[in-house]
Amino acid sequence: MKTTGDQQLVKRINRSVLLRLLRAQPGLSRARLAQESGLTKSTVSLLVRELLDDGWLCESGATMAGDGLGRPSTPLAINVGVRALIGIEIGVEVLRVVGVSLQGELLCSATEALDDGAPAAACRQAAAMVARAHAQLAQRGLALSGIGIGVPGAVDDLSGLVRFAPNLGWRNVDLMPLLMSALATAGVPTVPVQLQNEADAAALGEYEFAPEGEGEDPLVFVNCDFGVGAGIVLNDRLFVGAQGMAGEIGHTILQVDGPRCSCGRLGCAEAFFGARALNRPDADPARAGAFLGVLLQNLWVTFNPKVIVVGGECCAAHPELLEAAMQTVERFADAAAMPAPQLRAARYGALAPAVGAAAFALHEYLRPMHPDAGARREHQVQKSRRAHEGAAA
Ligand SMILES: [Zn+2]
Repeated sequence: MKTTGDQQLVKRINRSVLLRLLRAQPGLSRARLAQESGLTKSTVSLLVRELLDDGWLCESGATMAGDGLGRPSTPLAINVGVRALIGIEIGVEVLRVVGVSLQGELLCSATEALDDGAPAAACRQAAAMVARAHAQLAQRGLALSGIGIGVPGAVDDLSGLVRFAPNLGWRNVDLMPLLMSALATAGVPTVPVQLQNEADAAALGEYEFAPEGEGEDPLVFVNCDFGVGAGIVLNDRLFVGAQGMAGEIGHTILQVDGPRCSCGRLGCAEAFFGARALNRPDADPARAGAFLGVLLQNLWVTFNPKVIVVGGECCAAHPELLEAAMQTVERFADAAAMPAPQLRAARYGALAPAVGAAAFALHEYLRPMHPDAGARREHQVQKSRRAHEGAAA
């Protein structure tokens, strides 16, 4: 027997299928949506009605000739005038908050120095910034649909713990309850909040908010900040590894007996082009860029990605870093008589992790059937079941 919970999930999945089709191909009619999705026309009509009522979709005024049955058909599109998302990046010395439309248009942004790196204090400062961003969105008549937060550390997908954020000195921090309570105190409306590693978030930002509507896959995002990390989108989802640690490339070794890294090893990527290395008076960004090129070459042959995107504060501050890295990769490609991989700078520059966190909030709406989402739900069910059993005992 079907439970209400299953029916709700099926509905969410079907709604997400329609939303994703319309993101990729704006202007589809109900009939075309039925063809493309394999759902029945009556199901599509019902769901489209709901999505129109909820402000996710809009009908563009013009009607097209016909759908083959003699009826005029109305083109549908994602409604960018009703809903918006907020993204937060808690960086090592900085906080960034952005408001973006469902299509990734940057609507507002703010950057502040991080006053206090303790988790609760960082959440309070972030929540105050979110409240101001929310006020700006409300002035535009936009309702908040979700909040995403990116942090410079490994996030355990299942428990929601920030396992390890070495540059903030955090270990096993349960950030979500702190953030939720800070947001409530700051008067931010209750919406779904999603937590992710900053490089993973930035990768999703590039993927979900691709201008063509179809993200490049596989996509590797290399974030060069205090720490160096990579986010990997593979087969339409983030690849985070067994414990959320995939992409911790800042501590891949690029030179045996190289400079000492904050982790204790010698010759890590971060020791060449992390912010601490680049901020030294004797830093040579062009030479650091050559080492970044070595890292990109290694990622290229490991993943054979469609594109490698490079971003983060270090790239914004030192344009010659990426330039030198690209030349290095081209030299490697020439030597192997292969065409060089596609490399580009992050679309949102230093805001990439914050915009990406907002994209992650959207991603969770559009992919309710993801194994991760399923695992999280299962975890919640187990937790509430245990609580129930505890209460009954
Ligand atoms: Zn290291």
